[in-house]
Amino acid sequence: MDLPVYLDHAATTPVAPEVLEAMRPYFSEIYGNPSSIYSLGLAAREAVETVRETVARLLRASPEEIVFTSGGTESDNAAIRGAAEANREKGRHLLTTPIEHSAVLEPFSTLARQGFEVETLPVDGDGRVYPQEVARRLRPDTTLVSVMAANNEIGTVEPISEVGALCRAQGVLFHTDAVQAFGKLPLDVRAMQIDLLSLSAHKLYGPKGIGALYVRRGIGWTRFQEGGDQEKGRRGGTLNVPGIVGLGKAAEIAGGEMESEAARLRALRDRFLTRLEAEIPGARIFGSRTERLPNNIHFCVEGVEGESMLLALDAAGICASAGSACSAGSTEPSHVLLALGVSRELARGALRLTMGRQTTAESLDYTLETLAAIVCDLRALGRPPGR
Ligand code: PLP
Repeated sequence: MDLPVYLDHAATTPVAPEVLEAMRPYFSEIYGNPSSIYSLGLAAREAVETVRETVARLLRASPEEIVFTSGGTESDNAAIRGAAEANREKGRHLLTTPIEHSAVLEPFSTLARQGFEVETLPVDGDGRVYPQEVARRLRPDTTLVSVMAANNEIGTVEPISEVGALCRAQGVLFHTDAVQAFGKLPLDVRAMQIDLLSLSAHKLYGPKGIGALYVRRGIGWTRFQEGGDQEKGRRGGTLNVPGIVGLGKAAEIAGGEMESEAARLRALRDRFLTRLEAEIPGARIFGSRTERLPNNIHFCVEGVEGESMLLALDAAGICASAGSACSAGSTEPSHVLLALGVSRELARGALRLTMGRQTTAESLDYTLETLAAIVCDLRALGRPPGR
C-alpha cells in the first residue's frame, strides 16, 4: 500500500493523467483566444464548444444553457445574486438551508443586508430538508430556493427532485449547488426541474479554478461578472481554455465510470462504517446511512478532539479532514453539524474521510486500525493520573 493514504477527495482531487494530457496542447500550441476569428482562435473555440456539449449531455441540458465560470464559488454567487436581482421587482423572499457551503450562505447574507428576506429551511437529524416545509414556506413573493444536491461535510443527498417540482409548480426559481454531486450521482436538470446548477472541476479529477453554471433557457437571471461579451454576454472574461478542456475530459471520464465507481465506493464505505461502530467505542456516524454520497464517511468519537485525530492520522500518512476544508484551521464547530442538532462538544470531534479512485479496502483497513490505536492513545492521555 502506498503512503500517503489520501482521504480528502471532497476537498480536492488530483488531476487525472488523461485530463492533464488533454489540457497540455491548450497551454502552448493551441493558445489562441476563443473569441478571435483566425484559425488558432477557432480551434480553441471548437474545443470549448465540445466541452459545453459534454457537460450539457451529462446534465441533460442544452449546450447553450452552460456558462463556464472560475469554479463552484463563482457559480453559486452568480446563480444566487443573478436570480435574486433579476427578480427583485417580483419579490424579495428567498429560501435556503442552514447546511449550505459558504459560497451559498455568504451571497444570501449579502442579499439579506440589501433588503431581501432570507428564510432558512429546517433540516432533520441527517441534514435532509423536508419537502413539505418547502411547500409550506413558498409565498407569492418567493423568487428563489437554493438547496444543495449533496452536502460537502456529511455527504447527505437532498431530495432535489421533490424540491424542484414544488418550485416549478409555483413559478419559483430553483438553484442547486451540485459541486459534490456532479460526476458522482446522476443529475437530470429537466426531470429534476432545476433552473440553476453549480459545478466545479477539481472535485472530479479536473483542474482547480474552473467550473460551470447551468442556467435554464428563458429564466429571469442577470449576469454577475461584467467585462466582455464572452459566453453570449453572460460572463465577461477571456475563457480559461485549458481549464475548460480539463473539465470536459474529467466530466467525460466521471460520467463513464459513475455507476461502477459509485457501487465500489458504496461497498467500501458501508464496510468501513460497520467496522467503525463495532471496533471503536463511542464512534458516532453523522449524516444519512442511505441517502449519502458513495465516497463520504463522517463521524466523531466521543471525548476525542477531531483536530487531535487529524494530526495523529497525518503523522501516520493519512490525509483526512476535521470538517470542511474551507473551515480548516478554525476551532469553531461546523455549522452543518450544529444545524443537525449535534452539541458543540461532539461537533468538535468530527472527522471526515472522503474516498476516491485510489482508495482500496487495504488503505481503509490501515486507516481504521491506525485510528483505533490513536483513539486509545488520546483517551489514555486525557484520563486523569492514577485512573
Ligand atoms: N460548494 C460546495 C458544496 C463545495 O464543496 C465547494 C468546495 O469545497 C464549493 C461550493 C466551492 O467550489 P470551488 O472550490 O470550485 O470554488
